[in-house]
Amino acid sequence: MSPDRDLSADSPLTLPGFFDALAQGDLLGGVCDDCGQVLLPPRPACYACGSRDVDVEQQSTEGRVYTYTEVNTAPPAFADDAPYTIAVVELASGGRLLGRLDADYADVAIGDPVELRVREPTEAERAVALEYEADWPVHEFVPR
Ligand SMILES: [Zn+2]
Repeated sequence: MSPDRDLSADSPLTLPGFFDALAQGDLLGGVCDDCGQVLLPPRPACYACGSRDVDVEQQSTEGRVYTYTEVNTAPPAFADDAPYTIAVVELASGGRLLGRLDADYADVAIGDPVELRVREPTEAERAVALEYEADWPVHEFVPR
């Protein structure tokens, strides 16, 4: 793509475009043409090398736990959910994505295979979202 391309709100290089695709089950990432860095979600410029030569490509929805932790003191809106597990997942296509992992902390290990699930936001998630974010889908990981 050209560095001087126009960015419209529905471009996959914007968060609205990313979430529109995610609602259809498509996980889009930016892939830097210059250094190969995967950008999740996509961004107009590479955060590794600064290049604006970023392509948007479908990413794998399967990966492995890269690291994880348990949230015991949750933000007030999610206090009823605690404790819950969050993980950084390294996708089979190379990028890393943070999200909740639908598993007990004690049952998780680094390297565990997981897959992405996309769902509607809960009432608590809608309550803390900005108005334009309220209908964005929520991703989480499940063991596979
Ligand atoms: Zn780069």
